[in-house]
Amino acid sequence: MVIDPKLRLSDPNGELTEDELKWALNYGASPFRRCHIEPTRINRFPCKTFVHGRIGDKRYLVYVRVTHEENEEQGTGPIPLCLLDAAREMNAEPRVVRLNIEYSTHYVNLSTCGIDALVAELKTSREAWNRILLKGKTIEDYYRICRKKISLLGLNVSLATGYDGKQLLSVDFTIDHVKLSTGTIDLWALIGSCGISDEYWMLTCSCGEPGCAGIELPFTVVHDKGLTLWRGYYLRPRKVFLFETKQYREEIIGKMKEFIARYKRDNLGTGLGVYFSEEGISTLENALWNVEGEKTEVVDINDTEKLSFRHGFKWPKADGVA
Ligand SMILES: [Zn+2]
Repeated sequence: MVIDPKLRLSDPNGELTEDELKWALNYGASPFRRCHIEPTRINRFPCKTFVHGRIGDKRYLVYVRVTHEENEEQGTGPIPLCLLDAAREMNAEPRVVRLNIEYSTHYVNLSTCGIDALVAELKTSREAWNRILLKGKTIEDYYRICRKKISLLGLNVSLATGYDGKQLLSVDFTIDHVKLSTGTIDLWALIGSCGISDEYWMLTCSCGEPGCAGIELPFTVVHDKGLTLWRGYYLRPRKVFLFETKQYREEIIGKMKEFIARYKRDNLGTGLGVYFSEEGISTLENALWNVEGEKTEVVDINDTEKLSFRHGFKWPKADGVA
């Protein structure tokens, strides 16, 4: 295939206004920012909407395609030659996201495509993503912060009486057998937290909008070396807890199965607010199916050969774990 060299010298987006360029660069940077990675604008190529970011030793070069007509089926569109050239030169993975700009008389409507997929891809660099979530510390540091305590997570599914007097199924947490008064638990986030390390909006308002209940920060959940870290501003008495990953997953997956079975059998409400419905149950079932199939590394915390600790270090068992 012969490629017209002139094609490589022009910006495939054509002329953009100053605003359009600013929006495009902001959206191009957003997948990196969502992963706490500092993005860089790349100016030395003819294309003006290149954003670069790296996670671990992997580099990504993102081209933001700017379009002016909504067409869902179009996806992000093909990879332009200028991106391939630039990515090769920078030894980076070429990726495309699309920003669609729709002008109407009174407003500008911006919509995007490909950003969530790129965020998900960045997070597959598991070790590097874990390091970001651990904020410069190691899981061993957190173990010391927790005063060498491995806690036991409990999830209680119980009957409660709603404000309208009806019986409903309620879910609450215990840590080391002490009940956590947390408000409404987002069950999807809870199940999801058994999968990849990430930030999860575990607590929410009964309407499904965390901000409405004054929840402004997600929980950080990191699975590393057989342990699961919880870091959450709303946790008491301290903001950090460690669990054994195996116990964490088994407790949540087991109790959520019980929740679904009782909900279906007894035809109960949930106390999870108006947003929870029949559809909610099948979404929960899908979420469970996903994390159960996920190949999360669940190592035996006493199998030191699989761990990289010095001096044959062993985690102690959590209280109450046989
Ligand atoms: Zn609310």
